[in-house]
Amino acid sequence: MVLGVDVGGTNIRLAVVNAQGDIGERTSQRAELSQLAGENAAQHVLDTLSDAILPLLEKHPQISVIGIGFPGFFDNKTGRMIASPNIPGLRDFALTDALQEKLHLPVHVQNDASLAALGEFRFGAVQGLNSLLHLTLGTGIGGGLILDGKMYGGDGGIAMEIGHMHIAPEGRICGCGNTGCLETYASATAVSKGYFEQSGKRLNAREICLLAEQGDQLALTILEEAGHYLGRAIAETVKLLDVRHVSISGGLSQAWPLLFPALSQALEEHLIPPLRGQIHVRHSALNDDAGILGAASLALAHSSE
Ligand SMILES: [Zn+2]
Repeated sequence: MVLGVDVGGTNIRLAVVNAQGDIGERTSQRAELSQLAGENAAQHVLDTLSDAILPLLEKHPQISVIGIGFPGFFDNKTGRMIASPNIPGLRDFALTDALQEKLHLPVHVQNDASLAALGEFRFGAVQGLNSLLHLTLGTGIGGGLILDGKMYGGDGGIAMEIGHMHIAPEGRICGCGNTGCLETYASATAVSKGYFEQSGKRLNAREICLLAEQGDQLALTILEEAGHYLGRAIAETVKLLDVRHVSISGGLSQAWPLLFPALSQALEEHLIPPLRGQIHVRHSALNDDAGILGAASLALAHSSE
């Protein structure tokens, strides 16, 4: 038994998972971690995580390893967190060591989007793949890559920042300081913002998806635009990597039937001939559990050590 933990900006999700990827008890806890700044950020993150984890460890003493997906960049060699884009107060922090000391169990922490890709690769609908590109459409857009069966993090743990792929010239201003990034068009936040700007109504992405299903023209246009830019970004990425399978999870992916036609059209348009018709893009069957199962996979990989 291992514990899989998926840390988001506003909540932490935890599940007890066995070697087959079956989820047993699960819990979730609200936690306002994004935008934490200052010296106390590290201590706050540490306390919040251990408070969420400890009750499950007490209840399930057979848990032997903990895997955690965290929104941050990790040094491949040392495991130290270099930075967390949404938690300015966390820099060069040995989160793994600090947690191990507190929890008295082996802890393995990795980038959340990379682990969502690993979860999908290990336990998703299509098995036996060689490589997989996975996107998470949430507050931002996370990207994870499994290349030749291995998680790919790049030289410095920052690989696959597909949300910041420059996709629209003279485009919208992004939180990263650039303009025209994918996540300013195709994240849940972008869809919500786009709808507000054109209608004056403040709705979340889920509500906009519901409106689109009921035929709301503005909602349909915004989702179609999101699908279009996703298709273009995927085309650019697979031209570089020749990865044939792509899965997409996260809140906005619930609108799959509305996103997919524009996505598929833009993808095919921007591919080169040998790749046309060869890229399989699907909605993750695991959806919200991809992150938890990826964290559990990381723990399972270390449980036999
Ligand atoms: Zn950006």
